[in-house]
Amino acid sequence: MIKESSLVKENANFSEVVPAGDYFIKVIKKGQTFRILDLEGNQAADTLFYNAEEPTERYSAVDTIREQGNVYLSTGSKLISNENNVMLEIVADTCGRHDTIGGACATESNTVRYAHEKKCMHACRDSWMLAIAENEQYGMTKRDITHNINFFMNVPVTKEGGLTFEDGLSAPGKYVELQAHMDTIVLISNCPQLNNPCNAYNPTPVEILIWD
Ligand SMILES: [Zn+2]
Repeated sequence: MIKESSLVKENANFSEVVPAGDYFIKVIKKGQTFRILDLEGNQAADTLFYNAEEPTERYSAVDTIREQGNVYLSTGSKLISNENNVMLEIVADTCGRHDTIGGACATESNTVRYAHEKKCMHACRDSWMLAIAENEQYGMTKRDITHNINFFMNVPVTKEGGLTFEDGLSAPGKYVELQAHMDTIVLISNCPQLNNPCNAYNPTPVEILIWD
């Protein structure tokens, strides 16, 4: 569902541009709202969420889909943890479609889906691993890298129940906004994928904005 935000960019407490292929990690406090802004359009922001107090509690795609009875995420979607608590809620969305079943790109999946020589191409899983290695204060390991949300990514389910990676529905300036229901670690890989149309074969930056 398309819903515009009433928040004004100039009033944000924080903003940072994340280049394609880079990561973003930060604690969003309970009650704060954060926006992921697709600056140039058709980008994919592969995102994981953790309870900042206890990162073993984390975003669960399975629980979120079951609770809302829908595989797509948009305005009104409550993001549920593996302990069945609401972590965040999507409060505004001008794209209207976000995926949580396609998974993130990895060098291994690139070899299976595309070609063996894609093994050396930079993938979201590499960015997440780098993020947790360079930010030891969060106490996370490889084991914490689990199923995620692909903001702005279009992965429709076919009538037969299959998954297809399609051209994105996003465009320059579209955004999704989430309000935190608990202190939450946000970990984003701004996807460097060049083998499927999730980012129009042209990875571009996103901007993160936070309001109190
Ligand atoms: Zn990716």
